[in-house]
Amino acid sequence: VKYVYDFSEGDKSMKDLLGGKGANLAEMTKLGLPVPPGFTITTEACRAYLKESTVPESLATEVTTALRGVEDQMGRHLGDPSDPLLVSVRSGAKFSMPGMMETVLNIGLNDESVLGLAAVSGNERFAWDSYRRLIQMFGKTVLDIDGDLFSDALDALKAERGVTGDTELTAEDLKGLVDTFKGIVKEQTGKDFPQDPRTQMDMGIEAVFRSWNTERARIYRRRERIPHDLGTAVNICTMVFGNMGDNSGTGVCFTRDPSSGHSGVYGDYLENAQGEDVVAGIRNTLPLSALKEINKPVYDELRAIMRKLETHYRDMCDIEFTVERGKLWMLQTRVGKRTAAAAFRIATQLLGEKLITRDEALGRVTGDQLTQLMFPQFDAKAEKELIARGMAASPGAAVGKIAFNNAQAVEAAEKGIKTVLVRRETNPDDLPGMVAAEGVLTARGGKTSHAAVVARGMGKTCVCGAESLVIDEAAGTVTIGDLVLTSEDTIAIDGQTGEIFRGEVPVADSPVTTYLADGLEAGIAAAGEDQGTRELVEAVDKLLAHADKVRRLRVRANADTPLDSKRAIAFGAEGIGLCRTEHMFLGERRPLVERAILSAPESDERQAAFNELEKLQKQDFLEMLEVMDGKAMTVRLIDPPLHEFMPALIELETKVAVGKATGTLDPADEAMLVEVRRMHEQNPMLGLRGVRLGIYLPGLFALQMRALCEAAADLVARGLNPRPEIMVPLVGSVRELQLVREEGEGIIASVAAARGVDLSGVSIGAMIELPRAAMTAEDLAEEADFFSFGTNDLTQTVWGFSRDDVEGVFFPQYIEAGIFGVSPFESIDVHGVGTLVSEGVRRARSTKPNIKLGVCGEHGGDPASIHFFHNVGVDYVSCSPFRVPVARLEAGRAAV
Ligand code: ADP
Ligand code: MG
Ligand code: MG
Repeated sequence: VKYVYDFSEGDKSMKDLLGGKGANLAEMTKLGLPVPPGFTITTEACRAYLKESTVPESLATEVTTALRGVEDQMGRHLGDPSDPLLVSVRSGAKFSMPGMMETVLNIGLNDESVLGLAAVSGNERFAWDSYRRLIQMFGKTVLDIDGDLFSDALDALKAERGVTGDTELTAEDLKGLVDTFKGIVKEQTGKDFPQDPRTQMDMGIEAVFRSWNTERARIYRRRERIPHDLGTAVNICTMVFGNMGDNSGTGVCFTRDPSSGHSGVYGDYLENAQGEDVVAGIRNTLPLSALKEINKPVYDELRAIMRKLETHYRDMCDIEFTVERGKLWMLQTRVGKRTAAAAFRIATQLLGEKLITRDEALGRVTGDQLTQLMFPQFDAKAEKELIARGMAASPGAAVGKIAFNNAQAVEAAEKGIKTVLVRRETNPDDLPGMVAAEGVLTARGGKTSHAAVVARGMGKTCVCGAESLVIDEAAGTVTIGDLVLTSEDTIAIDGQTGEIFRGEVPVADSPVTTYLADGLEAGIAAAGEDQGTRELVEAVDKLLAHADKVRRLRVRANADTPLDSKRAIAFGAEGIGLCRTEHMFLGERRPLVERAILSAPESDERQAAFNELEKLQKQDFLEMLEVMDGKAMTVRLIDPPLHEFMPALIELETKVAVGKATGTLDPADEAMLVEVRRMHEQNPMLGLRGVRLGIYLPGLFALQMRALCEAAADLVARGLNPRPEIMVPLVGSVRELQLVREEGEGIIASVAAARGVDLSGVSIGAMIELPRAAMTAEDLAEEADFFSFGTNDLTQTVWGFSRDDVEGVFFPQYIEAGIFGVSPFESIDVHGVGTLVSEGVRRARSTKPNIKLGVCGEHGGDPASIHFFHNVGVDYVSCSPFRVPVARLEAGRAAV
């Protein structure tokens, strides 16, 4: 294997092997830009090192070859006492990763070559400054010495000399500092600072490899879902010096405004300094435009390169550069990181400049970014008192009084008081409090902690791991430094930034949401005077419009109420993919359902209860169908387990026992208990529900189907265009579907005849949510006009776990252990559940090539899942109204 690539050998497509930094250094070299010569050691070498705990032998020889190449190009040798070549050792993984080893500059300097450097550069001060920097960086990052020891020594020296800036120290001062630093190394490691240049380099390389597995790096990867087995590359790059005097300097810049995408000159420049000074903020930087005055030719050259890079990458880039005695050198570039809002603005800006196509612009933004822009936000203009920071675990903005436990949160919610649940960490017992509170704040745990996973699942705002919080539940206090808060205090948490504020902070709808719900004009009005927000709203509009144009997937919403249906349509839903009917049976209608279930089959009492329910259902459907006029509305026949409609067993048992003991027994209770016991299920999710309940209780589905047909007939008579679809849940066998279908067709025909209207458009289909249904879809298709994959239940039945019992309980550990990267309820398990979906699609179409296929369930609004559904060829996805815009955008991205 080849472990080493000269900068002239690679290109930007080789990020896996060369890391981001190495691949882009190679690309710039290929473009003929002034990159200091160097080479990259591959991630593969790192992986080999980590596996064997030793550097592969062939690496050492390859490094020698590559180094000689660089030396020949430069006409100098590494660490040569008379005229030394110096290099930097720079880490660089595929994804940029804070927490790994930083860069070591000036490798190759030692007690002799420092004199050579001084002589050749004619600048003694510079040479000693470079040497002390080497020992400092090498000591800290390669030898793991506490960095404060070095910076304290530097500060002490400055104090002694009565100066404030490093640049005011003389060559003599720095020479003394080198001795001090060498002393620190000897004292801390028991060994001398290594004088051999190649040893310095090899130790640096190995330190970069090792840093891949430091605790900090591992934590970062877990949080960002970066695989642990990628490894990092190492870049060896000829040193160029920004600290050689006033005609030298170093800087960073963006090819355009990183927030708005407008073109302009954005960046910072620091005279007479080496790279890390800019980032470290040691001295005040100048705006990049100042370079024009300082050195016009260099400025012009840099501007030309910025333009060239942007044209080449066709995106905003960020750049690190250094000027050595009036000569410009490029040290790094990459496609610049950006916020969600900036991503939309930059993409449309580049589109407006015709630098990229519409399809490409769409590819530059994501559904997750759109989601971020839709969450309510703290009013930007409001005054805020920041008291602590944690990790941004689940977005949104929550304000409320502090609640320390379930009881406080639940009690406050009952009184209409908003709370933020504040806990050291959460566990499944905290669920009621999490439901009752506006948001959740924890002192411990990361983005995969229980609090974070559950909050994201519930769409609750969450900030976790705010380690400065000391929570004393018993005392009822949260202490942050000197500040002590109690349940009387109000706090505000920002799930997007992790910020924690004291006091009431006003929350506002985001202008993007206003736009999505009420149109462009309303969105622009909501943006007000704020130019950036206005551009953002217009950008979302433009890209979403393009997504709508190119997408093949249709987007429907899951909605059960007229209000939700209206919202869904406003957000762009083209129909309802799942109207659940359960809630239509709960609440005050529950006694009716109880009566229907418990009365004798075919008794008058049961029929009376059914008739009553049918009347109520018809009214529900009328209202929904009216809102959905002209758009398809899939009504799922009643699905939940029977026990949800029955009194709780234990309560009833207690009541009867007490009644017996005290002689106040109500015989009706006793009769009810017999029934409830008879119907009690060990595993309700796998019990009497869905189509099974429909068959078990004849007349139940019939009343729903009749109510739906009657409602549709009313609307047709009024000249409207209702488009109901009847969906049968939890079907496993074609015979189940056949029975319901026969009954349904009879009802459709009889209502049509009785009312004298055409109901031939009412279709009947099945929900595919059992493995058996997916695997026998070619049979089911004989009896179905459409299928909708219920991927929530399908995930439960394929994995064999019940969502309510697992998600907050052991999923955090499963995610931590890497059993899955993300909950399979959040993003579809492509390999397992996905195979059943694609197999179901294939089998269904083998019988009926044109059968309409949809997906309902949470996955219909998940970006990664949407791409999967696009690829397997379903016709539409259905998701909650709030996710509809995200689904539209991602369906568009999947198609380009
Ligand atoms: P990071 O990934 O933290 O940006 P870099 O490897 O880019 O780390 O290096 C840190 C700093 O050192 C940057 O400012 C960079 O420009 C500077 N630097 C790195 N290599 C060289 C070099 N060969 N000559 C001069 N400066 C360098
Ligand atoms: Mg850098
Ligand atoms: Mg289901």
